[in-house]
Amino acid sequence: MQALAERLDAAVGGAVIAQVEMLGFSGLKTVVPPDQGLEGEELIGVGRRGKYLVLSLSSSRRVLVHLSQAGRLDIEVPPKHTKPRGAVVRFVLGNGTGVLVREHGHERKAGWWVLAAGDEGPLDGLGPEPQEKAFEDLLRTSQDTRHLHTLLRDQRFVAGIGRGYADDALNRAGLSPFSALNSLSQSDRTRLVAEVRSVLSEAIASERQRTGGLSEPKLGTAFAVHNRVGQPCPVCGEPLLRVSYESHEVVYCKRCQTKGRLLADRRLSRLLK
Ligand SMILES: [Zn+2]
Repeated sequence: MQALAERLDAAVGGAVIAQVEMLGFSGLKTVVPPDQGLEGEELIGVGRRGKYLVLSLSSSRRVLVHLSQAGRLDIEVPPKHTKPRGAVVRFVLGNGTGVLVREHGHERKAGWWVLAAGDEGPLDGLGPEPQEKAFEDLLRTSQDTRHLHTLLRDQRFVAGIGRGYADDALNRAGLSPFSALNSLSQSDRTRLVAEVRSVLSEAIASERQRTGGLSEPKLGTAFAVHNRVGQPCPVCGEPLLRVSYESHEVVYCKRCQTKGRLLADRRLSRLLK
């Protein structure tokens, strides 16, 4: 998301919004009065907060875009006039660039918000960014009893980490996804902070290198552990294992992360009953 925000900022930062084409019915999550459209506003810059792209406008309003799992964002030069399947919205900029938000599939729809000055909208209550000192302080001191994998994915605890980064960071830190945070030693906590940060900064570095489509799901191939059950653990080479849920799985190495213990695969054990 960070690399995506940077690319978008380079493409449209400073441009004036010429037109907003609403292409999908469900994408806009806020009500924008018709006399307060976005046309004519300067798009000052594009940043990121958690998993949201934040487009800052000259009137101090902000536009948020959340791509979810199946969303993608295309930069069009010049802007197209098509309405592709799954299209949500197209921003046409005065600099001859179009930004199209679209989505595949039916679950986890991409959405966008127009926030008045000072309105935090869905950004309200997001936890600290992993690179902030507040995250380090939190991980060093929190007595939260939840599992590490659950905590890292909780956007109110820490913002911007999904399943993929959680799997990868826990593998590198040698910690079980199902350890409770309050059970960790100080050195475990320190290592976890460091590995979360290194996994994220490496991902940003590699995304900055990549050209082509701006699709978040494409990141899937960039993970070292996530989605790689059966493949060798990047640390020790043992085949990676998983715990399956209805809609996702947690991937881990039993040698590196669970002291050789096999975690119950709930879906599998239910099938066997
Ligand atoms: Zn391993």
